[in-house]
Amino acid sequence: MSLPASVTSELLAKLTGMVVAAGGRSHPVTEAYTGDKVVDLPQSDPADVRTAYAAAREAQAVWASWPLKRRLDVMKRFHELLLGKGLIVADLMQAETGKARRMAFEETCDVLMVTSHYIKAAPGILKDKKHGGVVPLVSTSTEVRIPKGVVGLISPWNFPFATSLSDAMPALIAGNGIVLKPDNKSTLNVAFGVGLLYEAGLPAGLVQIVCGTGPDIGSAIVENADYVMFTGSTATGRVIGAQAGQNLIGCTLELGGKNPLILLDDANLDDAIPGTIMATFLNAGQACMHIERIYVSDRRREEFTKRFLEAVQAIRVDATYDFTPDMGSLVSVAQRERVQAHVEDAVAKGATVLTGGKARPDLGPAFFEPTVLTDITPDMILARAETFGPVTSIYSYSTVDEAVALANDTEYGLNASVWGSDRTAAEAVGRRIRAGNVNINDGLATSYASKKSTSGGFKASGVGSRHGDAGLLKYTDVQNVAVLKKQVLSNPPDTDWSKQVDRTVKGLRLMRKLGIR
Ligand code: NAD
Repeated sequence: MSLPASVTSELLAKLTGMVVAAGGRSHPVTEAYTGDKVVDLPQSDPADVRTAYAAAREAQAVWASWPLKRRLDVMKRFHELLLGKGLIVADLMQAETGKARRMAFEETCDVLMVTSHYIKAAPGILKDKKHGGVVPLVSTSTEVRIPKGVVGLISPWNFPFATSLSDAMPALIAGNGIVLKPDNKSTLNVAFGVGLLYEAGLPAGLVQIVCGTGPDIGSAIVENADYVMFTGSTATGRVIGAQAGQNLIGCTLELGGKNPLILLDDANLDDAIPGTIMATFLNAGQACMHIERIYVSDRRREEFTKRFLEAVQAIRVDATYDFTPDMGSLVSVAQRERVQAHVEDAVAKGATVLTGGKARPDLGPAFFEPTVLTDITPDMILARAETFGPVTSIYSYSTVDEAVALANDTEYGLNASVWGSDRTAAEAVGRRIRAGNVNINDGLATSYASKKSTSGGFKASGVGSRHGDAGLLKYTDVQNVAVLKKQVLSNPPDTDWSKQVDRTVKGLRLMRKLGIR
């Protein structure tokens, strides 16, 4: 299979040339569909990481001195450039990760939506907030937002463009520089996006790209950062969170999930079946918010299962660089083996395969069939662990309370989906699930695409959130600038303290009554 025409050797040389790596080591990037080598990706070492931080810090001083409007003008040009070049990003992303083209294109839209949201919202979110000070009339206190400095941004391979560029956007708009470490499997598309930022007018050096494995350069990234934005597995999140704590810097950790979907008795299956298909198999199930547990009442189980399986069997899986396939490859042979191991473990312990369950070597080395299981027992690995592939399981419940308890019976809390015709009742069920995202009559996109609201994980699914006001403010320190117009706070040496106590008590009572403080 030949790579898309846009992926030329000149483009690959330009993109690999953006990596800060002086040592000459490299890692082979392979085409996910075939396993063929695409290019050698330079590998950074801790000294390269320090070089990258130094350069980003220098550029950040310039960038932060620009008025917000000038920074936003760069992002407006970036938005326009990406609108025109989204399909080149999709070409690169497909070659690296094997995802279906529809998914790759939609991923570029996430970056566009985040960018346009913050172009509009940032002036209001970042503006100074003036408050009355400690003493009414004679004092003020103003909250001023200051960029953190240089953010260490670490992203995974499954949604590489969005978890890099969408998370970089508010950090940059707030005035920060970035040292960005994408996964080795998914750096080229990210570098292309960073190139567009520079084309749009970013000061030279503001976003630095370093590459390497976590053990090689992970520590250096966190050690030198003023804030860390991490997306990836819960296991790595724990390591990064501990290191950030040790360095007394803030971090956002967007981690894994084991997301439930509850089908209520009044759910409309004409909507719920395609919605569940999308929520389960998008990106070949390699999505942190995708559904791995489906709860259906005993009353509707047979009907749901029949229609769901028909729809799963109609999913078109293929390796092409056009929009025909619904689903592409898994990212790597190692990921396919992990998914396969979860299924084989479940089958060995008594699970029933309703459809799928096998690799598809005829399509490529990392393809796996859309798979639905049932008869899951707690001793099976996939009963609790995130599988992160095109595999879901159907469970029964008899009462809504039982469904909620089962949905909550997980260490994770990233996303939950509830389907029902009575939307108020469905929402009430959704609110009982301990998850940072709850989607009613949708699988996941409705909450994630609502950029005005925050999106994050509860429990082992993460710390902090992205999107919304909090998704921008986290990249700033807040400075409290307080002004006293007349010095009234100090007491003269001859103060009569019994009278002073009386005056203070009366003053505090009055201020509470008047609602001043
Ligand atoms: P991972 O944790 O193995 O790797 C993620 C990134 O961290 C990669 O760039 C990797 O090189 C780097 N890394 C690994 N060890 C490191 C270390 N010690 N220090 C610093 N960096 C290190 O995760 P993965 O398997 O690549 O990604 C899939 C996981 O990401 C899944 O669990 C998925 O649910 C999660 N995810 C979560 C979200 C979310 O928004 N909550 C989004 C996408 C993916």
